[in-house]
Amino acid sequence: PYERMQKIREQNIAPSLRTYYKKPLLLHQGHMQWLFDHEGQRYLDLFAGIVTVSVGHCHPKVTMATQKQLARLWHTTNIYMYPAIHEYAEKLTSLFPDPLKVVYLTNSGSEANDLAMFMARLHTRNFDIISLRGGYHGGSPYTLGLTSLTHYKHGVANGFGCTTTMLPDVFRGPWGGSHCRDSPVQTVRKCSFACLAKDQYIEQFKDTLNTSVPKTVAGFIAEPIQGVNGAVQYPRNFLKEAYQLIREKGGLCISDEVQTGFGRTGSHFWGFQTHGVVPDIVTLAKGIGNGFPMAAVVTTKEIASSLAENLHFNTFGGNPLACVVGAAVLDAIEEDGLQKNSEDVGTYMLLELAKLRDKFEIIGDVRGKGLMIGVEMVTDKDNRHPLPAEEISQIWEDCKDMGVLIGRGGLYSQTFRIKPPMCITKSDVDFAVEVFCTALQRHVE
Ligand code: PMP
Repeated sequence: PYERMQKIREQNIAPSLRTYYKKPLLLHQGHMQWLFDHEGQRYLDLFAGIVTVSVGHCHPKVTMATQKQLARLWHTTNIYMYPAIHEYAEKLTSLFPDPLKVVYLTNSGSEANDLAMFMARLHTRNFDIISLRGGYHGGSPYTLGLTSLTHYKHGVANGFGCTTTMLPDVFRGPWGGSHCRDSPVQTVRKCSFACLAKDQYIEQFKDTLNTSVPKTVAGFIAEPIQGVNGAVQYPRNFLKEAYQLIREKGGLCISDEVQTGFGRTGSHFWGFQTHGVVPDIVTLAKGIGNGFPMAAVVTTKEIASSLAENLHFNTFGGNPLACVVGAAVLDAIEEDGLQKNSEDVGTYMLLELAKLRDKFEIIGDVRGKGLMIGVEMVTDKDNRHPLPAEEISQIWEDCKDMGVLIGRGGLYSQTFRIKPPMCITKSDVDFAVEVFCTALQRHVE
């Protein structure tokens, strides 16, 4: 069966959908933080289907609620009322501070961000959307215009989106000197966030806003922690001041919580809360449905009304099944104490990984918050160049062979991304860290 699947893949599945690993895994089953391949081999899932399986694979309560609804009503679309959407809208928005009390349900993160941009433009009647270097907001033509991670754009400037302004040299992140390679501030050799004192950083942001951005702005979009870029964090107060500057230019602030939402960062339910800001629009996806394709835009009644002058329609968005899944996910997070678990187990994991960082020269940085962790691999701690791709891949393949699945991210794919289902335990962390340590040890020997 493995060979047959490979053949079908080659012949009938779009080649841009790449698989991880030299010998891609053929997965048959999942249970909470565990995945099982076609031969019954078990893997600890530290990537959760790209930060999506929030409460655990086939979580029994979510599965049960879904099955019940499957037998009752799948789909009617929004032209009718059905209880599930009302109950879910009430539940979801109760988790947001005022005035973020209105939700529009969609099907993917890209779609949510497209809609957020559309709302910001309609509401402000301005055009420009500002994004940060290193951010990722989706694969649709519009959202590709927001990303600076060039390989996602297939060599096309702005990925055909061509509708946004990216602040070019403000946010160079994260740790390696290589990130500064194409920056005018080359003189700062060791580019970490410490390389620019906070004031300088904000000053630069201001300068760039004033010089390369028109007088008026429709919106500013940022992830509270950059996910695809490898759990990159901003300097303290950066977002707060950025929000203020954008609002002075008439723009709305959009928080992309596609990865950071639903308790993943541990201390707070939403990533924006860790920055002490209240956005005007929040976008949600991935963990919202534990793998069920659903997403959302949460905003104020006033902003949402800008879109209501005419019909804006979405066939599947918020259908009965999606809403029941979403509500069951929220229940599971609460009943299983998963936000607290993210904080406890995430903090434990960061400490354990920091010990490996101190032991191995090729771990440049261990960073993140809760269960959103990045481990940046470098040639050495002085030069901070990304560890060559083949070497990183070998460590990563070894981890897989020993039963631990890890994600990759960053401009050079140099950062391991660890974002497991939030039900992971400390003893799972012990196992994962031991495996990672063995793989590193083999590499340096
Ligand atoms: N925003 C962020 C922060 C993401 O990480 C992603 C997906 N990696 C998206 C938006 C796009 O989501 P989707 O793939 O569901 O369109």
